[in-house]
Amino acid sequence: MHPDLLTLRTRLKEHADLESAAALLRWDQMTYMPPGGAEARGRQLATLDRLSHDRIADPEIGRLLDRLEAIFQHQSADSDEARLLRVTRRDHERAVRVPADFVSAFANHRAESYEVWTKARPSNDFATVRPLLEKTVELSRRYASFFAPYEHVADPLIDDADPGMKAATVRALFAELRAELVPLVRRMTAEPPADDTCLRQKFAEEKQLAFGKLLAERFGYDFSRGRQDKTHHPFMTKFSSGDVRITTRVREDDLSEALFSTLHEAGHAIYEQNVDSSFDATPLGHGASAGVHESQSRLWENLVGRSRGFWEAFYPRLQSSFPGELGAISLDTFYRAINKVERSLIRTNADEVTYGLHVILRFDFELDLLEGKLQVADLPEAWRERFRADFGIIPETDSDGVLQDVHWYDGFVGGAFQCYALGNLMSAQFFGAAVGAHPEITREIASGRFDTLRGWLREKVYRHGRKLLPGELVERATGKPLGIGPYIAYLKSKYGELYRLDEP
Ligand code: ZN
Repeated sequence: MHPDLLTLRTRLKEHADLESAAALLRWDQMTYMPPGGAEARGRQLATLDRLSHDRIADPEIGRLLDRLEAIFQHQSADSDEARLLRVTRRDHERAVRVPADFVSAFANHRAESYEVWTKARPSNDFATVRPLLEKTVELSRRYASFFAPYEHVADPLIDDADPGMKAATVRALFAELRAELVPLVRRMTAEPPADDTCLRQKFAEEKQLAFGKLLAERFGYDFSRGRQDKTHHPFMTKFSSGDVRITTRVREDDLSEALFSTLHEAGHAIYEQNVDSSFDATPLGHGASAGVHESQSRLWENLVGRSRGFWEAFYPRLQSSFPGELGAISLDTFYRAINKVERSLIRTNADEVTYGLHVILRFDFELDLLEGKLQVADLPEAWRERFRADFGIIPETDSDGVLQDVHWYDGFVGGAFQCYALGNLMSAQFFGAAVGAHPEITREIASGRFDTLRGWLREKVYRHGRKLLPGELVERATGKPLGIGPYIAYLKSKYGELYRLDEP
């Protein structure tokens, strides 16, 4: 290996190790840390974050990149070396553009805003958090300004989460998607709602956890390189390809909570466990973007985990775990219950069909706030109006409206939400391409086997890590640019069978 490349890789390893140390402290904070540890943990994380920012922004990295780019300029653009240099260049330059003062000022503001939000949400008190959110909008604009020139002020923020995506592209996709979803939701919710009372009995926690683990394992989540713990808000975290962890939350009175959060997080984890392990401790060693990541969690949770075939294979096993609760409930009743479509106020509990509308609304508000078209003070009212237009219902409190998601109170306004809907679109496009190449996948799922599907995903998506930009990845894997077609076709086919959608 070229000596400069060796030096670069050593520097990158130190940076990755600092990031892993911070991730481990965050994992501990969300799982086992006693409340008394909060203050010191905040300081410890701030120190590690500053050190890791300094490492990647180090001018020495810039000099190494200059030399190596000249040396490797004739290498194929697809080689691991060329891609490593490109992605490192991106991370380095983004870190350099943001002044260290801004990084610590924003970290302090963010901590304060989060603290106030945790009290404002349960007490329905938007007024106390409002000045902080106003400042967040201002700081988000300032953050964007470090990346000027741009077409839209949200572009740099979107690019952070979903590299290569822009406000204009996402806005166009979402406009198309909303135009399809609004009438679809209207027609489905005009039908009598599915009966999901079978999910709301008492299900012993231990049996729920054991069943979830069994499914995650069958999907291909390797527990010798992973583990599952309990938390308030489920997440996945990676320390290396040999240690990728998931978390879940269990409700004994709602079977769907732990079950689907486990399938979702297992999807994220399978992705990370299958990134080429030679990318470990380099900027290539993670999933391609927030949106591509979400496509994998949603693919395993919904396209597989909420399909009829999947439950043909696993429902008898679930019944034998809970004979008293589900013994007399038919597969059809259970299948309808886990796919109930309803107008709901809370994004994280929304079904597959309405979910996209929750996301698009937030994305549109982010753009309006950043453009100055919408003032923070008018946000609660704008939220209610938009909800009436899209869902035909109005949240009675801000707790169920503008205060419900943590994102704007613990980070920037801009770039925070598009990944969820992009992920849904990609999930259907990937799944469709996989089934197109291997029609036996459907049959295999119905007999509880996932090797062909996972093999296709490993080859086309997982192993590349961050080597490819999300747009490139989608086009190479599916032969088409990202579009709404496969996702809408999937919804219409699945829910057309569940609801009477044939009449106009
Ligand atoms: Zn997720």
